[in-house]
Amino acid sequence: MAYLYIMTIKQYGIIGYPLGHTMSPTLHNWGFEQFGLQAKYEAWPTPPDALDAFMTRFKKENYRGLSVTIPHKLTIMEYVDALTDRAQAVGAVNTLWWDNDTLMGDNTDVAGAVNPLRLKGGQLNSALILGAGGASRAAVAGCKELGIETISISNRTASKAAAIATDFAINTVDWDKRQDETPDLIINSTPLGMQGDLQSQTPWPFSFASTKIVFDLVYNPLETRLLQEAAQAGCETIQGLEMFVHQGLEQFRLWTGKALDLDGARNLVLEQLRY
Ligand code: NAP
Repeated sequence: MAYLYIMTIKQYGIIGYPLGHTMSPTLHNWGFEQFGLQAKYEAWPTPPDALDAFMTRFKKENYRGLSVTIPHKLTIMEYVDALTDRAQAVGAVNTLWWDNDTLMGDNTDVAGAVNPLRLKGGQLNSALILGAGGASRAAVAGCKELGIETISISNRTASKAAAIATDFAINTVDWDKRQDETPDLIINSTPLGMQGDLQSQTPWPFSFASTKIVFDLVYNPLETRLLQEAAQAGCETIQGLEMFVHQGLEQFRLWTGKALDLDGARNLVLEQLRY
């Protein structure tokens, strides 16, 4: 009987290396509980040279879904049967899920960028993305999906911004001239403002002119210097926590077909961040 019970538990998890503290197990295991699903989600630290063996086990033991983080977001692509449009646009995968017998790769960070902006509503004609790392590609893909007409990217290392600008057919702005821009939306995808040595810094130490929304992907602290100054200037703000929660909700939806309660998920993650 106990054996049968174990066999029916659907297995999910996250791989990365090193895999530090992650809020994903708490979020997804709470989700499974909410819907009474026989499923569990675990953290599997997996160094690069163990990825192949892990994926053999994933398929053999019929694991149902996987979150993928650094350093596997590119290398995992060779193990999937097909990519969603979002994963193709970003050029990286953070979620594996089964569509019948087809192992799909998606990038739910795009949903994490798009959904909080959709909830704000209103018309956005221009966006400036600060930073040109992995998260910025999801932010640019999200802006494209939202149909924002003029999208620009600015980065300390100009060549990295230029590479993304070429991939997505968007504009580049010199890091030293970014203050001349007057976008409707600013997205920070640098770590400036993050807890620790960078906390007192901001990627936008300038006035906000006509900017309507400022979205900071940094989520610790929740209220970064950038968000505080933007709110003082009258902009609407979106915390990095929203990106994390929405990308997690999208993973849960892909795996189970079910929509988790946004407020409940946010409160759960907030509680985790406090400890
Ligand atoms: P990444 O790939 O390492 O890219 C970091 C980017 O920030 C690079 O373009 C880098 O510029 C720039 N940068 C780093 N230090 C800087 C500094 N002192 N001054 C100016 N620019 C600087 O990192 P990522 O994965 O894209 O993550 C970026 C941020 O987003 C992190 O704070 C991360 O925590 C956050 N994030 C949040 C979520 C979420 O769910 N909310 C998800 C993913 C990431 P160079 O090219 O010049 O080095």
